[in-house]
Order: sequence, then structure tokens, then C-alpha cells
Amino acid sequence: MRVAVVTVGDELLSGDTVDTNASWLCDRLDDRGVSVERITTVPDRVADIARVVNEYRAEYDAVIVTGGVGPTHDDVTMDGVAAAFGRAVVPNEAAAAWIADHGDYSADDLTEGTTHLPEGARLLRNPEGVAPGAALESVYVLPGVPAEMKAMFETVAGEFTGERGYVEEVHTTEPESALIDRLDGVQERFDVSIGSYPGDSVRLKVIAADAATARDAADWLRERVDLATEVEQPEQGDGETGQ
Ligand code: ATP
Ligand code: MG
Repeated sequence: MRVAVVTVGDELLSGDTVDTNASWLCDRLDDRGVSVERITTVPDRVADIARVVNEYRAEYDAVIVTGGVGPTHDDVTMDGVAAAFGRAVVPNEAAAAWIADHGDYSADDLTEGTTHLPEGARLLRNPEGVAPGAALESVYVLPGVPAEMKAMFETVAGEFTGERGYVEEVHTTEPESALIDRLDGVQERFDVSIGSYPGDSVRLKVIAADAATARDAADWLRERVDLATEVEQPEQGDGETGQ
């Protein structure tokens, strides 16, 4: 499954808020074997949200949009998603009923618009707060508050599935530029993809469809690169996931 993540908020683009929602979602989706192929951040502006959601829902199997779903004036995400489908935002009975059942207030006590969702959307419950989320075809709309976003994602996590990949890591003291021959060599011999991430040492991430291939390819590399000793090597063959 291929997914795009869209985070909404002027405060993300001004640098006031660090976009931890995107990285958390990518991590959880990767755990499930889902391939995240885009993270896009857009301002709190209906036309920008609509344009990106419309493009991505055509391109990817699912789109997750987070942020800007409360009823305050700057929260326009539901309008943007509805516009992407050419639909109106309308009062949602399931959302009003759920809030009445699960809070100390009825929908009448809430700011107008809290229970309004795009027409035809499925309600996503908010186990941590008031603002409901929505799923419309392949587009999922979650709140921006991290605790609420996480709890709501878990209510639909089962809808995100993919092939789990197997990962092995090799840490080397050699610079990336010196490794090209070995990286070409391992990919010629094994059906793997390799990520190369420089830091204090270079972390080589070996990804394969099965554990044995990942392990064999990593062993082949370990015999041919200068290993970084100060870095703890992860346990082998524990079947970590994802690309
Ligand atoms: P509310 O109902 O509280 O308005 P909301 O769904 O509209 O929630 P936002 O208004 O977009 O969410 O953001 C609420 C708060 O959540 C922000 O002030 C920020 O602290 C945090 N937040 C929003 N988006 C992100 C993000 N992508 N990463 C981390 N934190 C975020
Ligand atoms: Mg808000």
C-alpha cells in the first residue's frame, strides 16, 4: 500500500511547531509495511488543502491529512477535503451522537461546526478529545493535537496494510564515497535495496523481502567494509519492517 501524508498548519510552515505528527505516522505506517511516498505540509487555506488532497488521492492508495480540524476560525481542513471531492461540509449525526454519548456535553454545547464533516464521510472517533475525524473514500482526516492524532490513527490502523520488509543494519567508518563498489556489489548479488545514512559513522540499511536474504547480504557487507566498533550492532534477523 502506498500512502501520502499531508500536514496542515501555518504554524508548521513558520517553524513554530515541529512536524512530529508526520514522522510518527511514517514510523507507524512503516511498521505496518506501508510505503509512505509523500509528506507535504500546506497552510491553513482551503484551496491548498483541496489541491493537494485531490492530487494525492488520485496517485496513492490512501491519504492521511492531519491538523486544522477543530471548530476555530483557522481550522479549514474539513472544508478543504470536502472541496477536493466537490462536496459540502454538513452536520454529521453520528459525530453529534458520539459526542453526546462520550462527553459531559451535548452537541448543542459545542462551538458550531465541531460535528460538521464532509458529506458522506465516515466518522472517526476521537478517543482523546472532542473534534471528530473523518474518512472519505481513501482520505483520512485526523486532528493536529498529537495525542488525539495518535489515538485516532490507532482506531483505523488496521486499514493500512502492506508487505513487511526485513531490515539489517551495518555501520561502517568508511566515508560514503569509498563504499560505492561494495554497495554496487551487494545489490548485484542479492535482491535487496540499500539505504546509506551518514552520521558519526555511515549506517547502511539493508532491506529485503525475506529475513535470510537481508542477513546474507548484510553479512556479505560486514566482511567487506571497515566496521564501526563503537556502534552497537542491532540483533540480527529480528524482522524489522518496511522500506
Ligand atoms: P484543535 O481542535 O485543538 O484546534 P486541530 O486538529 O485543529 O486541533 P491544530 O489546530 O492544527 O489541530 O493544532 C493544534 C496543536 O497541535 C498545535 O498548536 C500544535 O501544538 C499541535 N500540532 C498540530 N499539527 C502538528 C504536527 N504536524 N506535528 C506536531 N504537533 C502538531
Ligand atoms: Mg485547531
